[in-house]
Amino acid sequence: MGGAALEQRVERAAEAALAKQRYVSAVDVLVGLGWLAPTHLDEWRQGRVPCLERVVQASLPKLSTAMRAFRRWAGRRGLVPSETGYVARTRDRRPLRFSVSGASEIERAYRTHWVSPELSVAKRERLAERQGRPPDLVVISPLKDWTCTTCSGTGDLLIMQDVGPVCLRCAALDHLVFLPSGDAGLTRRAHRTSELSAVVVRFSRSRKRYERQGLLVESAALAQAEQSRPGTDERAVGVHAPARGDPRATPGRPS
Ligand SMILES: [Zn+2]
Repeated sequence: MGGAALEQRVERAAEAALAKQRYVSAVDVLVGLGWLAPTHLDEWRQGRVPCLERVVQASLPKLSTAMRAFRRWAGRRGLVPSETGYVARTRDRRPLRFSVSGASEIERAYRTHWVSPELSVAKRERLAERQGRPPDLVVISPLKDWTCTTCSGTGDLLIMQDVGPVCLRCAALDHLVFLPSGDAGLTRRAHRTSELSAVVVRFSRSRKRYERQGLLVESAALAQAEQSRPGTDERAVGVHAPARGDPRATPGRPS
């Protein structure tokens, strides 16, 4: 592909992301170019790949050409740079690494989001605050047998750490209870109250995506959320999404 054609593709991907969310990140462009599969992006966020460039399907020279084109485009469009923290959805919340080299200026370029100048300063600040917030921890319901890197045990759920997959006991998350997806109100209330929580995901082979199964929350937070259920307001009772099963149940062992 010629440089001009690539530049055009970069601009199209960037414009699409900007129109949709009023800011663009390098990750948006890579996904838009079709170089970064959503599954790989998920795995990177889950701390399962050493750096993003490892899972981008383009050569490093082509990638840096595209990233240069992206920055030129952002400059021409008068977008406002906003450095954004990317941390892994792991217990240690380590910073996510983008580049193979790890060079600080390359990392910064990847981390920089370009924000529409049409947004007011207050809105830009809110956006930056929201994006800088650490993401929820993510716990995986594995499809295959696995072994805890720390205790050599196993379990229905695992969390990725620096050393590899770790069981919830070793990660000090085994006091949390599982609340299956389905009751949006209950989930929201429990999430808000629980000091520690983690999203449980499972890979769907047919849809080739990690899908949310539910939330791990502190049992006290769940009890409180259940008590404050707005039972008198009929509209608030989940007509479209009734709660499934026992909220305290652990997801079944994958078949
Ligand atoms: Zn363990």
